[in-house]
Amino acid sequence: MKPKVAFFDFASCEGCQLQIANLEESVIDLVDIVDIVAFREVMKEHSDDYDIAFIEGSIQRPMDEKRLKSIRSKAKILVALGACACIGGVNKIRNYWPVNEVKKEVYGDADIKNNEYFDAYRSKAINEVVLVDAMIPGCPIDRNEFIRVLIDLVLRKKPRLPAYPVCVECKKNENVCVFDLGDFCLGPVTRAGCNSACPNTKSACEGCRGYIDEPNFEAEKSVLEKYGVSLDEMMKAFNMFNFHKEGY
Ligand code: SF4
Ligand code: SF4
Ligand code: SF4
Repeated sequence: MKPKVAFFDFASCEGCQLQIANLEESVIDLVDIVDIVAFREVMKEHSDDYDIAFIEGSIQRPMDEKRLKSIRSKAKILVALGACACIGGVNKIRNYWPVNEVKKEVYGDADIKNNEYFDAYRSKAINEVVLVDAMIPGCPIDRNEFIRVLIDLVLRKKPRLPAYPVCVECKKNENVCVFDLGDFCLGPVTRAGCNSACPNTKSACEGCRGYIDEPNFEAEKSVLEKYGVSLDEMMKAFNMFNFHKEGY
C-alpha cells in the first residue's frame, strides 16, 4: 500500500506548493511511491483519508488553529512545508505591532468585528499549535530536499536536515564572501541545505531556512559590528524570517 499524501495551505503565498507542482518529470516518480489525495493547487479531487499531511503557511486565527488540529488528528505524520509553516516566516513580522494596530492599517474603518475571517491574533508557526514530525525549511522550499524528505518518510526513516550553517556550503562553492563585497549576511547562523543559493549570486543570506540548532549570535553580531552594520540594519536582517520577541 502506498502512503496517502495530502497538502494543505494556511497564510502563505503558496510558493512552496508551487515548487512541488513544478517538479515536472519527477512527479511521475513520486506518484510511484505515494498516492496524492489532496492538493488544491493541482487537482480537484480531495480526500480526508491521508497518512502524511504537508502544511504550508502560518496560523493567524482561531479558525486556522481549529482546522490545523483537525488535520493533525487525521494524519499519522505531519510535515511543516516552508518558512511560513516552520518558523512563521515573513508573516511574523507583523507580530512586532499590536494586532489591533495591524488590523487598523489593513482594514481601516471597515466593520470587521464578530467576523471569524478577520479574527486575527499573533502569527504562529505550526509547531506552536500542533506536534510537527518533520520540517522542510526555506522560502521557498528546495524541491530536491522535499523529495529526499518524502522518500525518508515513505521508508519510515526520520528525515534529517543539515546541522551546519550556510557558510559551509558557501565556502565549498568558492564564493567571495558578501561581507567582503560590502553587504552583510546571516549565513553563519542559518541552517544549510539550499546550497548557499543567495551568496552564489552575490546576495546575502537572509536566514529563510531558520537558525542552526545552536547559533552563535554573539559571533554573528561581532562580525556585523566589525563591518559597521548599524543596530537598525542588524535588526531588520534578523527579523525578516526569524521573529525575535526579546531581541538577540
Ligand atoms: S515560505 Fe515563502 S514561498 Fe513558502 S509559502 Fe511562505 S512566503 Fe511563500
Ligand atoms: S557570504 Fe554569507 S554564507 Fe557565504 S561565507 Fe560569507 S557570511 Fe558565510
Ligand atoms: S542563502 Fe539563506 S536566504 Fe538564501 S535560500 Fe539559503 S537560507 Fe535562504
